[in-house]
Amino acid sequence: MSYQRPKGTNDILPGESEKWQFIEDTARSLFNNYQYQEIRTPLFEHYEVISRSVGDTTDIVSKEMYDFYDKGGRHITLRPEGTAPIVRAYVEHKLFGPEYSKPYKVFYIGPMFRYERPQKGRLRQFHQIGVEAFGSDNAATDVETMVMALAFFKQLGIQHLHLVINTLGDKATRENYRQALIDYFSAYENKLSEDSKRRLHENPLRILDSKDKADKKLVADAPSILDYLSEKAQAHFTQVTTMLDALEISYEIESTMVRGLDYYTHTIFEIMSDNPQLGAQSTLCAGGRYDQLVEELGGPDTPGFGFAIGIERLLLVLENEEVELPALHQLDAYVVNIGASTNTEALKVTQAIRDAGFSADRDVMGRKAKAQFKSADKQRAKFVFTLGEDELNAGMINVKSMASGEEKRIPLTTVYNDLTQIFDEMN
Ligand code: ATP
Ligand code: MG
Repeated sequence: MSYQRPKGTNDILPGESEKWQFIEDTARSLFNNYQYQEIRTPLFEHYEVISRSVGDTTDIVSKEMYDFYDKGGRHITLRPEGTAPIVRAYVEHKLFGPEYSKPYKVFYIGPMFRYERPQKGRLRQFHQIGVEAFGSDNAATDVETMVMALAFFKQLGIQHLHLVINTLGDKATRENYRQALIDYFSAYENKLSEDSKRRLHENPLRILDSKDKADKKLVADAPSILDYLSEKAQAHFTQVTTMLDALEISYEIESTMVRGLDYYTHTIFEIMSDNPQLGAQSTLCAGGRYDQLVEELGGPDTPGFGFAIGIERLLLVLENEEVELPALHQLDAYVVNIGASTNTEALKVTQAIRDAGFSADRDVMGRKAKAQFKSADKQRAKFVFTLGEDELNAGMINVKSMASGEEKRIPLTTVYNDLTQIFDEMN
């Protein structure tokens, strides 16, 4: 009996995992420059934390949750996204307290779970890199956070991207707009998909996010939220665009963009790849402002701004744009050993090199010298040590610098005591 991985999941194998590490390292160091610190929340969460934040009528909550009752009868779900659990933690640990910096800025990297139809760039277990900033309602926070996401892609060498923004305004805006949408879509009610018929009275904004073809046609002529902005919402959005202009960042405004989560207010944005091969999966990064969410989950009135990047989609784009990631692995030393009697000494030499802080490898499969030299080559060893029975008896070992071609016979004691000197001399 043998098995395949569960549908919609991936095994990230060596060869691939190096790319993940590089992406994660790049994110960590860039986000640290912007004073974000890492947070890690549980992979499973109270169902209610997600349903109240993301919204009961969203696809995520109504169709895509991996939820279950645990043995204690608690309603649990694997986390479908990162923001709601972080807000839960922010409130639980009172991270709004005076002892914490403001804004309070965190980033996360990890798996998320959604029961979706798997396709290229759409999985059931996928991974996000995301950030959240709590406590600032300044439009500069919106802008610097979007710019940080753009800087991340740029640093990875991705060129063909565009930034799309919109605003969902404040409560007053959405109440006005909601009515306008109900009025507009009601005239076409029988043309709407079943899902959208239901959404019409529950949450008409959700219709704008419909993937249904007929819905999409109607959405194209739907009223624009930009005509319903309250004074406050208009002022915030104008500041955002003014600041983007000041930084000479290009962007498009798409007034029917809503996002698949209910908690957003004011600015929302997506960063999309121009690569046509990604199809509907072209959004690499999505996020925005969520000024009511902390209060919704029982905390004090606290504005927030964040985004999430899909790592699998990012990898597809890196591949499509043929971005060369730096080679992470080069071996400092390979120890070739010839003859069974050299086994223990080869072990000692290899360990001594590692203990001195270098990377080292050797053959443990009893292969012939020629095959071992091949391995050293393949692993791109900088130095190759060779230990035969003659050398062992004489207390010596051969060392060759692959860069210079220089070769030397040195006492084994030098390897044990003065390795750094040899590496320096022969470099
Ligand atoms: P989409 O409209 O593509 O379904 P979404 O609105 O559900 O995206 P968010 O919840 O905002 O996406 O997630 C942010 C990012 O996470 C997306 O832009 C994408 O890069 C990634 N992402 C979301 N869902 C998946 C998935 N099922 N598989 C792979 N990546 C995903
Ligand atoms: Mg989705």
